[in-house]
Amino acid sequence: ADDLKIAMGAMGLSEKKVSNVMTKIDDVFMLQEDTVLNTKTVAEILHRGYTRIPVYEDDRHNVTALLFVKDLALINPDDNFTVRTVCRYHVHQLRFVMEDTPLRIMLEEFKRGDYHLAIAQKIVQPEEGDPFYELTGVVTLEDIVEEILQAEIVDE
Ligand code: ADP
Repeated sequence: ADDLKIAMGAMGLSEKKVSNVMTKIDDVFMLQEDTVLNTKTVAEILHRGYTRIPVYEDDRHNVTALLFVKDLALINPDDNFTVRTVCRYHVHQLRFVMEDTPLRIMLEEFKRGDYHLAIAQKIVQPEEGDPFYELTGVVTLEDIVEEILQAEIVDE
């Protein structure tokens, strides 16, 4: 019966979209490229507890890299390296996804791919001028698994 409930939850994946489960951009913990990795900033990063942190240049909508917290393990805070330096040394591919992607498709992509976090975006069409992409959040495998399990709990 548990299997059935999980399957029912998984069915909700076809109607729900990335935007329904992602962490919205304003709530995403990001770092500016120029941030100096001293004792204070490293402590804050560890305190937040995230595994992966989007890195931006100038503006939070301009994400340029992904910092893995594990890459900070051998950093000496006295060297005052910047986030940019670490990201150039430890390169992790950035993956983008449209926020209206169905969760089922996103789950397939996470299963097939070698990554578990994607940056969600949408197309903005201004009244005048060219359309452009705007970042709207981050989605991880965890968000989708949570959605499946939640559907199961509501069912009970
Ligand atoms: P972590 O390993 O960092 O905890 P998970 O993949 O387990 O990340 O995701 C847990 C939750 O945290 C998800 O809701 C995900 O969207 C969110 N999340 C992941 N990275 C960040 C981040 N840098 N800032 C804010 N939320 C994040």
